[in-house]
This record gives sequence, structure tokens and C-alpha cells, in this order.
Amino acid sequence: MTHPHLATKLVRYDANPGDPNRPTQTPIYQTATFAQPDASGGGPYDYSRSGNPTRAVLEEQLAALEGAKRAFALPSGMAALAAVVRRVTAGGHVVAGLDLYGGCFRLLDQIAPRAGISTSYVDTRDPAAVAAAVRAETELILVETPTNPQQSIVDIAALAETARGCGALLAVDNSLLSPWLQRPLEQGADVVIHSATKSLGGHGDLTGGVVATNDDALAEHLYLIQNGEGAALAPFDCWLLLRGLKTLGVRVEQQQRSAVALAETLAAHPDVERVYFPGLADHPGHALHARQASGPGSVISFTTGDVARSERLVNALELFTISVSFGCVSSLASLPCRLSHASIPGEAREQLGLPEDLVRLSIGLEHADDLARDLARALELSRAEAPLPV
Ligand SMILES: *Cc1c(COP(=O)(O)O)cnc(C)c1O
Repeated sequence: MTHPHLATKLVRYDANPGDPNRPTQTPIYQTATFAQPDASGGGPYDYSRSGNPTRAVLEEQLAALEGAKRAFALPSGMAALAAVVRRVTAGGHVVAGLDLYGGCFRLLDQIAPRAGISTSYVDTRDPAAVAAAVRAETELILVETPTNPQQSIVDIAALAETARGCGALLAVDNSLLSPWLQRPLEQGADVVIHSATKSLGGHGDLTGGVVATNDDALAEHLYLIQNGEGAALAPFDCWLLLRGLKTLGVRVEQQQRSAVALAETLAAHPDVERVYFPGLADHPGHALHARQASGPGSVISFTTGDVARSERLVNALELFTISVSFGCVSSLASLPCRLSHASIPGEAREQLGLPEDLVRLSIGLEHADDLARDLARALELSRAEAPLPV
């Protein structure tokens, strides 16, 4: 019997294939090596970099959630992105979004060129701009939707068609929403990437990355990278991620409910210049987002019109930890220009139009009323030019 609902899949899966003790939850196989039946080998596992039972359960589960044949667990989202970019051959070309995670920009700008890979950055909201940037050597189109932190919406199906037309792979970084809200493979993407550090893990206690695909040749390449470059998630982190995944649905739903309420409050606040959240009806990508995802997620960006004010506001928050990352059970706040996107040089930031006064909030599981009160208080305090009382 197959279970069509993700809620069921999240908690009902084979947690211990082949384990004679039938543990109800997946054990941590904290071992580097596995004894072989005889000198010619032949055991199901031999070495944990190449394969480990805890990781195997996690990867099966991740594939099931993304609707993929295969998924791979790597030590970070960057390792996952790098494994996909590694697929591009020397002389190959990448078309990537302008509004990309800062670390991804660093990978494409500072590391990929050493392997002879070049990148064009385009406004991926416009499928025609993506098509126009494609060259004969283009092998990969890499996007996020919603983008982080500006929350622009990218048409996955339209870009999948562009990618098919030029023989390139379409990779979608799905970190912001998780498969609970959006499954890009179902819409034609060739590969999905995650920073599992975010919503998949959900508790801010691990770094991890995921790549999932239905493409056999790509899966073979990804396994070669995972094993051949030593980019496998360690057993304990696999176990933490398996544990986090069980509550993905309830966490994402509750965090999203609070985020919707807070985004509406912020949008109505006279001191807030602009709110970037695809759940708001006036968001330019609202209708497209509603077609390809089942909810807006729990990250809200907004501007105040003044960098110093945004800085005072973030400093005045009490219930939001000043931190990079998102998708955590506790709420986080940051100025992306100072933290997560600081690796993007000033001129590139200008080109992509990332406002310096942009505040990014990641909504956690605190009560929404407490978060709203904290935000209102911080907005009030940030008005004053004088330094905050200590
Ligand atoms: C955080 C993040 C990454 C990088 O993941 P790490 O786990 O920090 O290496 C990649 N893409 C997006 C969209 C992210 O938010």
C-alpha cells in the first residue's frame, strides 16, 4: 500500500531495513567500517563514506518526500550545490539567478571558474531573460524560488522547458520552502537542492545538504561526488535530520501560520516601507507562487527605508535571535547585506538590487502574539535617533 500524503510518509517508512532487532526508530550506525563475510567482500556495506545504513534510510526518505528516485545527503547545502555544479564540464556555462544565496554566488564566482565554468546571472523572474542568456555551452540553469532574501518567484515549469530545449539541467534550490510546500521535480526540474540546515533539520542543530533527482545519469554522478570527494553526511547528523524530518509538516504549517499573520501586520505598519512575502496578495509573484507551491513559507523580508533604522530595529528585537539561517524552531532576524549575503561584493549587490535596509525574519514556533508584540516594540524603539537605553 502506498501512502499518498506527505504527513503519513514523514512518520511511516521502513526505519530499519534488514535490522534483525527491528528497532522502531532508525539506529545511529556510528561505525566507519563493516566486517565482510569473506576475503572477497560482498557485505551490504563496507565503509561509511561509501554507504551507511543510517544514511541509506535518510536518503530513501528524502527521495520519497521530493518525489525523486534517488537522494543524497551531504555535509552542507553548499556541498550539495557544489556537487551539482561539478556536473558542468570544463568550458561549460551556467545560467543562475541574480538573487541567489550568497554562498552560491561565491561558489559560482570564485570556485567554479577554476574548473573552467562560467556563469551568467539573470533576473530569473523573467523566463525570456533566462532563454536569452542560454548559450551553446550552457549545461545548468540554477535558481531558487522564492529567492532568498527578496522572495521573487521563478516559474519552474517555464524554465524546465527552456532547459529541455537547450539540453541543460534545471536545478531548483528548494531550501526556503521544503518539499512540504513545493516539489520542483513534479514541475519539470531535473534536480532539487536543499540546505537541510534550514527547514528539513528545523532545529538549528545540524548542517546538511540534500540533492534529489529522477535522472539516473545525474544520480550516478552525485554518488561519485559523494563517495569520491568524501561529501557524505555523518551518521549522527543523518539521525538528527531523520528526527527533524518527522515534524516537518507540523513545524512548517505552524511557522507559516504565524508568518502570514506577521506579514499582514507589517504590511499595515506605517513605518514599514515594503514587505516581501509571497503570501501577500499584492506580491508580484503571488499568483504564480500559488500555482507551484502550497504556501508562502515562514521567511519575511521587509524594508524600513533607512539602513540605520533597520539596524536599530534588529538590535532592539528580543524574541528574534540575530542570526543567519531560517526554518528554525526559534525565530531569527538578520540584515542579509551584513550577514548571509556579505560574500556578494557591493557592485553585484547593487546590480541585483538587494536593498541595504532589508530585514529578514525567519518565524519560529514562539506564539505569534508574542512575536507581534516584540516587532511592534522594536519598530517603536527604532524610531529614536538616540542610542537605545541599556
Ligand atoms: C543556507 C542556504 C544554502 C547553503 O546551505 P548550508 O547548509 O549553509 O551550506 C544554500 N541555499 C540556500 C537557499 C540557503 O538558504
